[in-house]
Amino acid sequence: MQTITTVAELRRVLAEARKAEKRIGFVPTMGYLHDGHLALVEASRAKCDVTVVSIFVNPTQFGPNEDLSTYPRDLLRDEQLSRDAGVAVVFAPDADEIYPAQFESFIEPGELAKPLCGAFRPGHFRGVATVVCKLFNMVQPDVAYFGQKDFQQCAIVCRMAADLNLPIEIVTVPIVREPDGLAMSSRNRYLCADQRRRALSISRGLFDVADKFQSGERDVEKLTAIAKKHLTTLDRLQYLEIVDADTLKPAENPLRRTAALCTAAYVGSTRLIDNVILPLPTS
Ligand code: AMP
Repeated sequence: MQTITTVAELRRVLAEARKAEKRIGFVPTMGYLHDGHLALVEASRAKCDVTVVSIFVNPTQFGPNEDLSTYPRDLLRDEQLSRDAGVAVVFAPDADEIYPAQFESFIEPGELAKPLCGAFRPGHFRGVATVVCKLFNMVQPDVAYFGQKDFQQCAIVCRMAADLNLPIEIVTVPIVREPDGLAMSSRNRYLCADQRRRALSISRGLFDVADKFQSGERDVEKLTAIAKKHLTTLDRLQYLEIVDADTLKPAENPLRRTAALCTAAYVGSTRLIDNVILPLPTS
């Protein structure tokens, strides 16, 4: 496995792989890897010859009062985990390599970036779409892997790839959870034991809704209320909403198309997101 920090070197190494007709899989991350990230690597390894993981804490997707400076970082550990997982290339550039001094061009996502996290993190998805597009241009993968954990991000990246005719297949990988249900996240390390316990009500609420949905409940308000009952252990609920899985607009009541129950909440000062898909045949 190689760790590369410059775009020039990355292009050189991947040009060779491409010339040898290797299929290139790409997993963009902000590092501090966990089993959720490694599930994306596994999905890539199953279908591609060469897997590239980027590790870049992208400053343009953080708001002024968010956790950019404290976001957990451990490149040595990430390299070891990547090596063990069969990654061929770790791309770990400095911020200057991605955003040189004169940088001023951004990708502006549309309606999909407005609800849910977009409503609470202005500019977040502009930063995400921009860095993902830049990384796509640097790596030029055949396939790129994203986690369903960031459901809105997946929708925006798929839209961007279609709108900009990017010749990249986008694959979404299901959420990987801790044995007790908490969705894995690099930010879970911020939680003390009490917060970790209280955070569990998020997945409990989502699972309860998934059960009731499976038993036939289709009423959006009833399903939302079921989740809400669980969330009393959280310090601040940002949103809890059932949205249409394609448009991310509020789902029609009663549910007739695939929807997702999405939530974001604070436990202490840690913001956690999670979701569950409520699948229906979509005409
Ligand atoms: P991050 O490093 O948090 O930006 O995440 C990098 C990629 O890993 C994104 O596509 C995330 O959706 C995905 N990811 C993060 N946590 C999980 C998880 N628990 N299960 C599956 N994918 C995840």
